[in-house]
This record gives sequence, C-alpha cells and structure tokens, in this order.
Amino acid sequence: MKVRLLGTGSIYSKYNCASELIDDKILVDVGNGVLKELRKINYDLTKLKMIMITHLHADHYADLPALLINLEVEKNLKPIYIVGPKGLKENLIGLCNIYYHDYFDRFFKEKIKFMEILPETKSIEIFNDYDIMVQKVDHYNIECYGYIINNKVGITGDTCLCKEVFNIFENSEIVITDISMIKGTKYHMGIDDIQTIRKTYKNKIIATHLRDDTREELKKKYLEDVIIKEDGEEMII
Ligand SMILES: [Zn+2]
Ligand SMILES: [Zn+2]
Repeated sequence: MKVRLLGTGSIYSKYNCASELIDDKILVDVGNGVLKELRKINYDLTKLKMIMITHLHADHYADLPALLINLEVEKNLKPIYIVGPKGLKENLIGLCNIYYHDYFDRFFKEKIKFMEILPETKSIEIFNDYDIMVQKVDHYNIECYGYIINNKVGITGDTCLCKEVFNIFENSEIVITDISMIKGTKYHMGIDDIQTIRKTYKNKIIATHLRDDTREELKKKYLEDVIIKEDGEEMII
C-alpha cells in the first residue's frame, strides 16, 4: 500500500493540514493546503475514487469545495464517493454555494455519491480490494472517526487517548497518529500519550496534525519508530 502524506500539520502550523492519499485513489481529509499539495505533485485528479472525511472541523474539509471545482472541470471523471459524518453533505453544499451559487447542483447529482458514517457504522464496504474498518474516537464534543485500511494502515483522526485508539493500534501495522500537542488534552493526543501507547504497542507511528512546537519537541526526543515526515512524502507500507 502506498501512502502519501499530503499534510502533517494542524491549523496553527506552517505545514498543510493533516491529510493522506492512499494508493493514489483514496483521499483522507481535505483541509487547508491539501489541494495545492495535490497540484504540486501533479496528481491526476481523475484517479480519485473516494474521499473520506474524519470529522466536520474545517481543518479537515475546508479545501473540499475547491477540490470539487477542480474535479468538475475534468473530462472523463468517474463518480466519486464522499464518505463522512452526518451533516457532511449539507455543510458541503453550503460551502460550495459560497464559492459559486447553484454551480454544483448537476455535478453533485451525476458524479458524487455520499455515504454517511454513523456512530454504529463498523465498516465501509464500497470497494472489494479495500477492507475499511471504522472506529468512532473521542474528540471531545464532535463526532470523529478513525479508519483502519486492510488491517495495515490505521488513521486515528483527531482524538484524545481513548480505548478506540488502542483498537486502531491492535488492528493495524502502522498508525498515522494525531500528535498535536506536547501534552495531551481532551481534544488531542500529545507526546505523553504516545509514550503510554508504546508501553503496549510497538507499531510504527507516523506523526500527524502536529503543531510546530510539538514537531520540534518530538524531533528532540528521538522516539524509536515514531516517524516525522515532511508534507508530500510518500511511504510504501
Ligand atoms: Zn478536530
Ligand atoms: Zn484537526
């Protein structure tokens, strides 16, 4: 599986907002900077099959209307799935109307298929070659979902340290992990939480959603198997 880290930062960071491109087909989260990163790497947008949104904080889907504008002008575009929490479709249509009023009506009908994730959703069964498990994580006051793809790549989404994070580690080989803070909060995990997880789980961790001060602190600690990537870097897993 190929994972490209389109963004590894948070809204406070000079890096793009956290986002991953899996096998050039599945895009996870589309916050600020993600569309420009896709353009920088000359990504062919017609390859995109599914967009998964972890939750409805703007740093995870603010670039989605701009991405849709770019998709809409592509010829030979096949229908794309957009998967995410309840309310995503309505919010997205509202955001798109801010860009260009009514411009997207026909595009949404013909090219976009929405799938809503609910707290009881266990898996996303759209493509035969991808087994995607869903874990509702604890991001304090908003529904947020982590994903496990083919029991290989885990993505925590924004979360504090909760039992679902341990489930994601249990069922993945490598985990793209929210390490926003130096010290964890009720919204986000911190470097201290990663040290707690590592007492039980030795999976490789890719740090994401980093604040810039957290990135510097994490680099100084040289934690074994905690990988800090630059935006745009690719990994084969
Ligand atoms: Zn959030
Ligand atoms: Zn966030």
